[in-house]
Amino acid sequence: MLEKTGVASEEQVAKSFPSMERLEKGPVAVIECFQRIPCNPCATSCKRGAIAPFVDINDLPNLNDQKCNGCSLCVFNCPGLAIMVVDYTYSETQVSFKIPYEFLPLPIEGSVVTGLDRNGDGICNCHVLKVTNSKIMDRTPLVTVAVDKKHLMTFRNIKVVQDGR
Ligand code: SF4
Ligand code: SF4
Repeated sequence: MLEKTGVASEEQVAKSFPSMERLEKGPVAVIECFQRIPCNPCATSCKRGAIAPFVDINDLPNLNDQKCNGCSLCVFNCPGLAIMVVDYTYSETQVSFKIPYEFLPLPIEGSVVTGLDRNGDGICNCHVLKVTNSKIMDRTPLVTVAVDKKHLMTFRNIKVVQDGR
């Protein structure tokens, strides 16, 4: 499916997610990187050794989610926008997602934006909690949003709606 549509299958997404036991311990990276390409900044940027060093530059990332504390360094550094940090402990009813966001304008903190699934279809409204726009070149802005927990496995991106700008 990924090869034909560019969209990860449910099985691929499910395999990328940590167990509920790990999710309930706090923020953790979710890496949706499924194609062997010569790329490794995720592993080299992780200071906790949570992403195993690549033996071959084409390796797929291998995350030890017990070592990951959700610091987001790998999200900043992934050129494929393949990583997000999920915090299932954000609130009783909502999960926070920290996602890479390369479009302009960036959303405004406190605004409401449209949450999208992996097909780019709108699935919910979500509140923008934080926008981190590092001035360091080559670093992707990160947007943190709060999303209803029922969208844990389907939320993937945002679209800035008119009154969110
Ligand atoms: S979020 Fe931080 S600790 Fe977790 S894999 Fe990425 S860089 Fe490593
Ligand atoms: S940096 Fe991103 S695209 Fe590159 S291997 Fe790691 S997860 Fe995949």
